[in-house]
Formats: sequence, C-alpha cells, structure tokens
Amino acid sequence: MIGTQEKGSTSGVPETPAGERGPVYVTRAFLPPFETFTELMRGVWDRGQLTNNGPLVQQFERALAEQIGLAHPLFLVNGTIALNLIIRALELKGEIITTAFSHPVTTTSILWEGCTPVFVDIDPDTFCVDPTAIEERITPATTAILATHVYGLPCDVEAIEAIALRHGLKVIYDGAHAFGTRYKGESLLNYGDVSSTSFHATKVFHTVEGGSVHTRSEALYTRLRLLRTMGQVGEGFHAVGLNAKNSELHAAMGVANLPFLDEILAQRRHQWERYATGLASAPVHLARIPADTEYNHSYFPAVLPTEEALLRVRAALNAVDIHPRRYFSPAVTELPFIGRTGECPIAESVAHRVLCLPLYHGLSDAIIDEVVDIVSRTLR
Ligand SMILES: *Cc1c(COP(=O)(O)O)cnc(C)c1O
Repeated sequence: MIGTQEKGSTSGVPETPAGERGPVYVTRAFLPPFETFTELMRGVWDRGQLTNNGPLVQQFERALAEQIGLAHPLFLVNGTIALNLIIRALELKGEIITTAFSHPVTTTSILWEGCTPVFVDIDPDTFCVDPTAIEERITPATTAILATHVYGLPCDVEAIEAIALRHGLKVIYDGAHAFGTRYKGESLLNYGDVSSTSFHATKVFHTVEGGSVHTRSEALYTRLRLLRTMGQVGEGFHAVGLNAKNSELHAAMGVANLPFLDEILAQRRHQWERYATGLASAPVHLARIPADTEYNHSYFPAVLPTEEALLRVRAALNAVDIHPRRYFSPAVTELPFIGRTGECPIAESVAHRVLCLPLYHGLSDAIIDEVVDIVSRTLR
C-alpha cells in the first residue's frame, strides 16, 4: 500500500517500466529441474512410503553429513521446532542469554519452553551478539547461550565458547541463515554444543519447509533423535517428545537441490559483491565478513543513516515494483509481547535502519545495478 501511495512522489527517481521485468521481491526460491523432482516422486509412488524416516530422508541426511560435513544431521519439519527440540533435549531451565537482533522465534522458542530470555546487544558490523556484553548478564540462573549467526555471518564462536566454559553454560546457535557458511574450513553449523538451521523456501537452501539440527555429541544426537519422533522407538514410547520429523516429499526437494549448492553460492557471491562495489561510495553501512569465513552471502543487508532515509529508499524502490525487506524489524526487545525496549540500543537502532536488498539465484546484474542506482540517488 505504501508503494502505491508514494508512487512517483520520491526524489526524482525515474519510473522504470515495471512491466518489462515484473516485480522483484527480496527473495525467490531456487527450483531444481522439474524432471529431477518427478523422478524422485516416481520412487516415492513405487515404494508407497511417504514419511517416518524413509529412504529419501536418510539419503538427504547422509548427503548433509558427507557433502557438507555436518555433524550428525537430523532432518526436521522446520527451523522453529528445531530450537524447541534442542532446548527440550538439553533440559534447559532458568535464564538463556540470547540476542536482541534475530527472528522472533529465537526468543519465542525460549519462552515456549518455559525459560527466560536475557538479551544482549550486538556488534553493529556483523549483527551478531557482542560477546563482551554477555558476561555481565550471567546470573546463577543462567543455563545457556542461544545466539544467531545473523545473515549467515559467524558469531564470535571462540569468545562465546570461552565464556560458556568459564560459566558451565551450553551453547546453541540458531543457524537458520548459516547453511553453506564455513568458518576455519568447517561448516559453521558444527560450532557450539548444538545448532539448528532452516530449510524454509525463503532461505539460501531449501526443502520447501524444513530444518535440521547438528551436534558433535553422540549422546545429544541420540536424545534429539528420540524426541524428534514423539519419544517413540518401534512400538514403544520412551520420553516426552514432539513430532518434528519431516517427510519424503520434503527430503526429495533437498536431494534435488543439493547438487546445485555450489552454483547457488557462487552466483550469490557475485551478486553480493556487485551490490557491495556499487554501493561503496553511498552512505550505507554494509556487513563486515569476519576473517577465516567462507560466507554464504545469504542476505544483502544495507544499514541506512536514518529510518527516514530507509523509508525514502524503500518508497523509491517500491515505486518501480522492487520490494526489499525490513529484516529484522523491530528488534526482539521492542516486540509488544516482549516489552524490553531500550535494553539493547545498538540492535534497536540497526533494526530501524536496515533494509535487505533483493538477492536470489537468477537475479540479474541489470536489476542489481538498478537497485544500486536508486539507493545511491535517493541518498544523494
Ligand atoms: C527463518 C528463521 C527461523 C525459523 O525457521 P523456519 O524453518 O521458518 O521455522 C529461525 N531463526 C531465524 C534467524 C530465521 O531467520
């Protein structure tokens, strides 16, 4: 609605005839060749097994372990339930230190499991928790740290591990954005006691709906595996579980998409760098990719000087049918049902000023250049 209202009213940006390229959204799901998917469906039809740890689920998990190097991958129904499953499996109680800048579910998973979130502010260059702000928030009730690898950029995993060791805390990473990022030669999802990711259709790699958890601990893996299937083994029930398993149809999308991962990541790198080069002299603050990181380029966040500037840039893009996203906005602390506004000023300030620009497989250089041009001119 804002787009329509403000159409043509902003900053002398020329109207690009939208009809030529159609609307541009912030993301668009990659799809494998139709025939690849239907071939996999043929097998599902022949076997008649649709779910319950079928051969495609097992094949997908094996591929995640062997090709991505993930520790003990368990394929799940989504990245939200993954967090609930982890908190349950670790039997966490009391306070969990978390970030103010993430998807709301990072925090609501803590609340859903009856624990108390304690917020820490972020590093404005990586958007991840500022480890120097963690220790002052630890109390005798603290049991864990749940941090997000925001936009697929790594948290300071070494500093967080050192703090956790000093205080006997568990470390959980919400790696919903982090699939494909490597840190020091290793999948970022293998860091911490346990991590989750999301394979939702809007993420860098997807299974339509889906997610997974990863841990190096054999004992925790066994526990997560049991709780994933309602605590059921064979015909017996052994624990208070969830139904968090995913289906053969979703696994098929993962199996079909995985061979394209390197191509997807390479193209995203090119697109990301084209944005970064194009915006180098514009007054926007861009993410800093930490050392030793092979980044997955899952998002292109641009932090604008003010919220007013953000609204002008968004209106100018909307006017030509380009739709960036305010992601994440507001900060978790500012959500009405959280009500902790003011606790994390950096996260809140970034949340008011950050815009994720369109970035997805197949996005053309011409559209990237058009976005760069509009952003630069609007801010001039
Ligand atoms: C998308 C997302 C989730 C939730 O994943 P779903 O698969 O959609 O349930 C969790 N955390 C973050 C940071 C996310 O972006």
